[in-house]
Amino acid sequence: MGYEGRKGWKKLLQLNIQGVTKIFVWKTLNNCLPTKGNLFKRRVVDNPLCPICEKEFETSCHAIWSCPTAVDVWAEEGSLVKKWASSEVDIEIIWKNMVERLIAEEMRLIAIVMRCIWLRRNKFVFEKGFTSPKDILIQARHNVIDFQLPQTSKLESIKRQRRDMVRWKAPDKEIVKLNWDAAYDKTSQ
Ligand SMILES: [Zn+2]
Repeated sequence: MGYEGRKGWKKLLQLNIQGVTKIFVWKTLNNCLPTKGNLFKRRVVDNPLCPICEKEFETSCHAIWSCPTAVDVWAEEGSLVKKWASSEVDIEIIWKNMVERLIAEEMRLIAIVMRCIWLRRNKFVFEKGFTSPKDILIQARHNVIDFQLPQTSKLESIKRQRRDMVRWKAPDKEIVKLNWDAAYDKTSQ
């Protein structure tokens, strides 16, 4: 991994996303996904072509970025990289460009969309079903919210615990503090 790659990797580590998504993006950037191209190199399969478009070697970059079935998601209305060239062949460079131009909050969504695209491909390969590009973006946004909610409530409970830990402290010198209580006996008045 070059210097730029390391910068992109550092950014990935800082993103507020699930570990599984981080690992997935790391594998993508290092072309370690079990793509047909990689399985072919390891002689697991005898055809390296993308199982969906059947036109190019299935590399991580092809699967996540340049395959027509990835392009349709990135080009969908509401995508953060709508006008970006899809012909790029190095996913590490694409990631670096994104890191430079997008804010952390946007990068979170990008990372989740990347994983959704991969899961969608698998779904196509194994179940022959395909999620629409629009639904992929909706799924990714929900994922961001779902991940945020438990974190927010965790923070709340930490704050509550802190409040509970406030203990009684003796008042400063020359200050008298009186605590008093009263009761009324109804029978004897
Ligand atoms: Zn393809």
